[in-house]
Amino acid sequence: MSGTSGSRRPRAVEELRCRVLTIPTDQHEADGTLEWASTTMVVVEARSGDTVGLGWTYGPSACAQVVADQLRPVVVNADPMAVPGTWSAMVRATRNATRPGLVGYAISAVDVALWDLKARLLGVSLADLFGAVRPEAPVYGSGGFTSYDDARTVEQLSGWALEQRIPRVKIKIGEDWGGRIDRDEHRIRLARRTVGEGTELFVDANGAYTAKQAVRLMRAVADADVRWFEEPVSSDHLAGLAEVRSMVDADVAAGEYGTDLFYFARMCAAGAVDCLQVDVTRAGGYTAWFRAAAVAEAHGLQVSGHCAPHLHAPAAVATQNFRHQEWFHDHVRIESMLLHGTLDPSGGAVRPDRSRPGHGLVLDQDAAARFDAATAASTR
Ligand SMILES: [Mg+2]
Repeated sequence: MSGTSGSRRPRAVEELRCRVLTIPTDQHEADGTLEWASTTMVVVEARSGDTVGLGWTYGPSACAQVVADQLRPVVVNADPMAVPGTWSAMVRATRNATRPGLVGYAISAVDVALWDLKARLLGVSLADLFGAVRPEAPVYGSGGFTSYDDARTVEQLSGWALEQRIPRVKIKIGEDWGGRIDRDEHRIRLARRTVGEGTELFVDANGAYTAKQAVRLMRAVADADVRWFEEPVSSDHLAGLAEVRSMVDADVAAGEYGTDLFYFARMCAAGAVDCLQVDVTRAGGYTAWFRAAAVAEAHGLQVSGHCAPHLHAPAAVATQNFRHQEWFHDHVRIESMLLHGTLDPSGGAVRPDRSRPGHGLVLDQDAAARFDAATAASTR
């Protein structure tokens, strides 16, 4: 036994590459408190020998600089089997830069790439490496931007609820920082009429309202049976979230900006949410995902995966208190364009392919080059 292990060349993470892809939206998009015309994807590839692990975060291009300056020195030469140890080294290395925000996003992208690398080196799927508790992860269709007209809203919602048979859909509300309540009410009822009674209707205000404004809106649209009210007020206003939660029937949800366990612990302890949202591409990768889920479970809560749908799938099926995954229009579109091995949400759930190593996703280099800022600059 010692003979075979002694002859094996010690493995190390030999290279950590990072690139920034900017992908234009398919049409102008806005929610209650922000509008955008493109999405930035910071892609990390961790290599050991001929094996490459892939991770990413949807964050500012400055994440790439954090990876290059702060994280690469502690990741290159690390043991690819010891991902939690490398995660700790990354957290320690960024003490002075501080973890919240884009540093947390950068750590997440690297952590995901390292877990993918480890699974590929072992020749197993991430779902099997983590240990599955269920075969598939329920999803909900998410988009319904405030910038859409009624025809586009109906088209998108019908696609999820009627064509793909996804029994949960979410639209954005809180248009113009809560300044277009009449239109919010109209769009909520339009969504309900479109998807019918058998589909759960979710709304996301992205922190647009005051607490009482949010409560009044839910009372006004009681006939629409909204089941999920995401960020009715700013997710930093824990008392406001708790106030809304105590006064509406819909589950109140938040957590998408969390980058460390203290954030999630404070949110849960404040009684601010009925379901905790966690994002593996922000919270600290897979290493932090499972710990955040444990924090939620200790408060009697389930977790819901925020955005980056394909990266959540292997963790989702391995998390006891998992509720559902956001099947977000922008990211579904981007991941379908740039990756091989994407999943089909038909019927309302995705099932990770456990015959493929890692998370099962491979970057299409030709497709990525079309959106790579460095490539675009060099060919200009
Ligand atoms: Mg949200």
